[in-house]
Amino acid sequence: MKTSIVGYPRVGTLRELKYASEKYFKNAITAESLEQTAKAIRHTHWSVQQTSGLDLITSNDFSFYDNTLDTAFLLNVVPERYRALNLSPLDTYFAAAKGYQGEHGDVKALAMKKWFNTNYHYMVPEIDDSLEIKLVGTKPFDEFIEAKDQGLVTKPVVVGAFTFLKLTRFTGVKKALDFADAVAKAYTEILMKFNALGAEWVQFDEPYLVHDLTDEDIMLFEALYSKILGSKVAVKVLLQTYFGDVRDCYDTITKLDFDGIGLDFVEGKQSLSLVKKYGFPVGKTLFAGIVNGKNIWRNHYIKTLEIIDELQKHCDNIILNTSCSLLHVPYTLDNETKLDDKYKKHFSFAEEKLTELSELKSIIGSANPANEEEYIRNASLFAERRDCSNEAVQKKVAALTDENFTRLPAFAQRETIQKKIFNLPLLPTTTIGSFPQTADVKANRSSFKKGEISEAQYKEFNKKKISECVKLQEQLGLDILVHGEFERNDMVEYFGECLDGYLFTEKAWVQSYGTRCVKPPVVWGDISRRNPITVEWSVYAQNLTQKPMKGMLTGPVTILNWSFPREDISLKECAFQIGLAIHEEVLDLEANGIRIIQIDEAALREKLPLRKSDWKSEYLDWAIPAFRMVHSGVKPETQIHTHMCYSEFGDIIKDIDDMDADVITFEASRSDLTILAALKECNFKTEVGPGVYDIHSPRIPSVEEIKTALHKMLASIPASKLWVNPDCGLKTRGNAETVPSLEHLVQAAKEIRNENS
Ligand code: GLN
Ligand code: ZN
Repeated sequence: MKTSIVGYPRVGTLRELKYASEKYFKNAITAESLEQTAKAIRHTHWSVQQTSGLDLITSNDFSFYDNTLDTAFLLNVVPERYRALNLSPLDTYFAAAKGYQGEHGDVKALAMKKWFNTNYHYMVPEIDDSLEIKLVGTKPFDEFIEAKDQGLVTKPVVVGAFTFLKLTRFTGVKKALDFADAVAKAYTEILMKFNALGAEWVQFDEPYLVHDLTDEDIMLFEALYSKILGSKVAVKVLLQTYFGDVRDCYDTITKLDFDGIGLDFVEGKQSLSLVKKYGFPVGKTLFAGIVNGKNIWRNHYIKTLEIIDELQKHCDNIILNTSCSLLHVPYTLDNETKLDDKYKKHFSFAEEKLTELSELKSIIGSANPANEEEYIRNASLFAERRDCSNEAVQKKVAALTDENFTRLPAFAQRETIQKKIFNLPLLPTTTIGSFPQTADVKANRSSFKKGEISEAQYKEFNKKKISECVKLQEQLGLDILVHGEFERNDMVEYFGECLDGYLFTEKAWVQSYGTRCVKPPVVWGDISRRNPITVEWSVYAQNLTQKPMKGMLTGPVTILNWSFPREDISLKECAFQIGLAIHEEVLDLEANGIRIIQIDEAALREKLPLRKSDWKSEYLDWAIPAFRMVHSGVKPETQIHTHMCYSEFGDIIKDIDDMDADVITFEASRSDLTILAALKECNFKTEVGPGVYDIHSPRIPSVEEIKTALHKMLASIPASKLWVNPDCGLKTRGNAETVPSLEHLVQAAKEIRNENS
């Protein structure tokens, strides 16, 4: 039995690509030098896969920014506004990825969205009626040749035609089906080229297939692949799916002429039953995704072997595979020098997962699997009782009643009370929490972590930063202030570090967007709060100003969604444990004079199950209560804010309103404010601050631009409910763009207030 993976991480074990790209953007290195770094990273990755004994090594899973964007450029899907900048191909690519503001022009980036149910973001391709889709790029071929020069015949990976079209935004009247022929032709050419180059397999990633599919979707899929597979050449085609099962199209895909089909047996609840029920086509290869590409716990070999046993009854060719790309897990445990072995032995990052695949391969190949050393070691690891429970916490969760999930009095009454006591101007201005994490801020934190400075010195520096930040916000004329979050590396890791039951890593970075990474903490055991976490900072900041200072917390759903979760208790149980801890923090902030508390649920939308039928039962039924319990019991005059990123929450708008916050701010600028109609239609009760400009790009929005956005918002949202804010935290930005952007924001709000008074 051979082994394969869906894809490998690409930012470099020590985030080399991130550092090199950042230097390139600052003109500190040349494009050639950036290319050299990229090449070295690819080389290393191929070597690691080869050394691990992996049979099918991937290529074209590398990207400077995003694989979907790469595919768009490969297919000539480049909006005219980026071409018109007349930049080099690489810089045109980066302009589409990040926006561009400079001597060649001023354009916003393409929209960015969550990649299915992960915390990775892809760039949304954009097609207008005049665009001609054709194969124009060479990246996949170049990288295939590059690996070949290293002596490897790789399995190139390309985002599949169907998923590509389904993720694309069509700005004219033409729709996906109108481009199907051209797309199919381009993909046919891709296959021919790989055939000529000597590839054995080409992998087309079609994760979109795990959604609920309509008849039109299936028609589109068939139209595309009957053409792509029609003029078949020797190279074998792998249809790779992941993040769920393909219950709506199992029949369709098994009838088409694919040589291999990749199914996910980790997240795909029905994958196994589909194979059992309908069988698997004779002569084809099943790429069985049995090693979890998303979580970091060791594979339980006994369970995996049971699945493989079942599968072998129905399939004659099986290749062991990961459930999805390893992009979603960190590189290697070798970089974790501080984590005790008693923990480490339970974990498996990308490199260790390669080892798991090779161990599984040898166990399966053995005449007597249960006698194999790796098998025995794995079985005894899982037989061990992990020391991770806290009975008091378990009891508290078990004792929760309706009261714990209900804030009184009801929203309308609170709104009246709060309007009176805060007495804010129309369209109050605020920010989402963090201010630029400049080099000095990071250096201070890292010196403290390394023990180079004392805790007192560390705090003193942060306090200086806070006071500068407060002063700046007062000068800018913002209405509700924030302390700036200088003490936080990351909104989840920071809380993880202050909660019992969490483990932290040093280098376990996972890509979030572009080359930006997050370092998710690990939920090891039952969660509880040791001590107050944010109170000292918030109180210090509040004492510097007469204006209300927002306390700033991360909500339980986001903490959980951005952590590596346990697999031995339910997500609901874990979310409630975290909810209890954050609830204690909310009450402490309130007791210490903080009158506005923002509880970020940046990632709430992200883990919404891909299938509608699972939304409530598997997610919203516990996620919304987990948030509600955090602010139940606070006084009516305490204003609770929440914030969400990339809020494509049109379809769960009622549930968002049911979180029962007083104010919600969210990302909207990159998705062209499409959410407004939905807010209006459902009579959204919560006050709202749809972001007026995009903070993921260094461009500075003009006053006019912000006013235009606000006018558009006012057409759907009553002025009495509208807030004015950027679309997310400012920590990734520099002061150079932050200060003028906020000046423009405040100015725009003032001008609109005048129009309305
Ligand atoms: N309060 C956080 C910040 O401002 C929110 C970040 C986020 O939504 N991702 O950084
Ligand atoms: Zn955000």
